[in-house]
Amino acid sequence: MEGDRDRGLLYDSDPPSPPLSPPPPLSLTFFDRERHVTFLEMMYHMLPYHYQSQEINHLTLAYFVISGLDILDALDRVHKDAVVDWVLSFQTHPRSKADLDNGQFYGFHGSRSSQFPSKDNAISIQNGSHLASTYCALAILKIVGYNLSNMDSESILTSMRSLQQPDGSFMPIHIGAERDLRFLYCAAAICFMLNNWNGMDREKAKEYILNCQSYDGGFGLTPGSESHGGATYCAIASLRLMGFIGDDCLSNASAPSSKANIQSLLDWSLQRQVADGGIQGRPNKPSDTCYAFWIGATMGTLGANKFIDEKALRSFLLTCQSECGGFGKFPQELPDLYHSYYGLAAFSILGEAGLKPLCLELGVTEAAATGL
Ligand SMILES: [Zn+2]
Repeated sequence: MEGDRDRGLLYDSDPPSPPLSPPPPLSLTFFDRERHVTFLEMMYHMLPYHYQSQEINHLTLAYFVISGLDILDALDRVHKDAVVDWVLSFQTHPRSKADLDNGQFYGFHGSRSSQFPSKDNAISIQNGSHLASTYCALAILKIVGYNLSNMDSESILTSMRSLQQPDGSFMPIHIGAERDLRFLYCAAAICFMLNNWNGMDREKAKEYILNCQSYDGGFGLTPGSESHGGATYCAIASLRLMGFIGDDCLSNASAPSSKANIQSLLDWSLQRQVADGGIQGRPNKPSDTCYAFWIGATMGTLGANKFIDEKALRSFLLTCQSECGGFGKFPQELPDLYHSYYGLAAFSILGEAGLKPLCLELGVTEAAATGL
């Protein structure tokens, strides 16, 4: 029923669905595309009540569902016009151009609960625009084919500059909060998608990233912090988006201009694949589905994924595949949207038949990234 297609993820007041019962022990030995499509389609129509505590991240959850369906080449399950209207409804607009200098960020809210009531002139009283929500909003819009040149990108980019700190990092929201590589990555991806780098100082951002490389070759979220798979992806993907890493990165690994120590980064990344075939985020941690993407995409961006034992990684990921569809964090765990998305993304990197190839540095399919 067409009327029901618009419910669920796109609406804010759906009743909670019954809890999922634990699946029987896993027996799937192949990538089961149809189960994953069914799982994400179910999430598109109605999110289980388990996600109520993540309501503030509604746009991020939507990105996992819609980008996941795109990887599965199943975007026909999505009502694209309704998605565009829903996503655009979270954008915050300044009252006038003068507002762009007031230090607030005019991007996207993560959900209705961070979007406070509007005055008569439809201007939000409280501006909770967030860099991660803005990245997810723009990514979804690109995936469903919306032309981003139709939107007010100047407000996003001009106001985003005030989030960048003197050390080059970004805070995610104008009232502050933690500053680290995650939000620098979001800012770089936003500029890349809007095809306009006025939103950030790239040289400062590059300096911050390089300061986050640790003695062991990996990157921490902040300078001096422990190397971590997710932070390492944010560092390398940002450098790639900003144009500091080219296709010939490996052949120029020792070039003084690159400054990042690519060889030690490769060594650190390769050591993250462990005996069970899976990939860990840090030393002495268990293999986890999502790091197959964070590390796999890092290696792929550097042109080095041939060094990954793909057969062993595939076998590990299959043990994390749920009979409900989707992927769990660890083998035989219940699926969640975050690990389901990065499990699918990892299978795309592994070249699974029927999956669309990824633009590794942007976190969406190549088709979505290029608009083709
Ligand atoms: Zn994980």
